[in-house]
Amino acid sequence: MNIQANQSLVSAPVVVERVETCLIDLPTIRPHRLSVTVMNGQTLMLVKVFCSDGTVGVGEGTTIGGTAYGGESPESMKLNIDTYIAPVMIGQDANRVQAMMARIGKMAKDNRFAKSAIETALLDALGKRTGLALSELLGGRRRDRLPVAWTLASGDTAKDIAEAERFLAERRHNIFKLKIGAKDIKDDVRHVAEIKRAVGDAASVRVDVNMAWGQTQAAGGMAALADVGCDLVEQPVATAAGLARLKQQNFRIPLMADESITGPQVAYELAKADAADVFAIKIEQNGGLFAAQRTAAIADAAGIELYGGTMLEGAVSTIASAHLFSTFPELRWGTELFGPLLLTEDILSESLDYSDFELAVPSGPGLGLALDEARIRRFARDGYTKVTK
Ligand SMILES: [Mg+2]
Repeated sequence: MNIQANQSLVSAPVVVERVETCLIDLPTIRPHRLSVTVMNGQTLMLVKVFCSDGTVGVGEGTTIGGTAYGGESPESMKLNIDTYIAPVMIGQDANRVQAMMARIGKMAKDNRFAKSAIETALLDALGKRTGLALSELLGGRRRDRLPVAWTLASGDTAKDIAEAERFLAERRHNIFKLKIGAKDIKDDVRHVAEIKRAVGDAASVRVDVNMAWGQTQAAGGMAALADVGCDLVEQPVATAAGLARLKQQNFRIPLMADESITGPQVAYELAKADAADVFAIKIEQNGGLFAAQRTAAIADAAGIELYGGTMLEGAVSTIASAHLFSTFPELRWGTELFGPLLLTEDILSESLDYSDFELAVPSGPGLGLALDEARIRRFARDGYTKVTK
């Protein structure tokens, strides 16, 4: 055997052989009220990538309230993966994740959430193949545990206070984000003030307006929220220009961009316009882990602080996010990776470790998760769809 043949034997490419998708409908522990929608359940789109060496990677695509938050839905992700994305992947080198994503990008524009799910699955398989945790594939984790905020969104101040006090006592969360913007500003500010008064210095209280305010409303809101001890205001207005105008007014309360950040290019524009003090990084909103990593690098270079955001994902995408966030040089505002805790059902055979106000980042190969397939079958809408050659 000549050297060339020997080398090709050693480095025989591992290729993608099959892609499977399914939708899983899970109930939430209570109605979750945002200014854009009320959620009573969550649908996860799971994708599995089967590779020729026997490794199987899993990824997840999940939205907030179907299409209430953005253009993609779990159903659209599944359809576009089955029809357009999976066929492009079959037979391709499974180790070269970025080249695979570039190939997919040529065939499928936008579809950021679907691409995030696929990229997660490819990286999970690569991690299992190499024995490395996903965080190590992304350059290496800097921390093993992440602070996790909880969102108080029952719609009722007394219930929210009871929930906050319970979680403080259980040492599960000491950062609370309040969803406001659906009511009159005076009522919203009173709601925030009452909750802050109840928890005092034991917890950080922040708000997410989900773009519900107009410009003058937001200016009044920012000033009033600073006065009642709120620590952070998330995306009060919809546009980048609107955020920049608020930021230039120097309220005594930091401003965070969330919905506005749909990828590294937009993140660069926001940074250039000095439109935020903090960026919420979401892997799905950015179009995958690598794109989210680039957005975080832009923030870092611009002196913008970081927060690890969620699309209320289930365990798979939550842990993919956790692996990425664990690599950030600084994570000043912690994370909101509580998505799995909002669901009544666990789709893992071993539950995640939420304790001491933090989430432990798994250390096993890839995502470091094992799915409970029996539980998944019970809640799967129609079972798995398979795409092969
Ligand atoms: Mg938000």
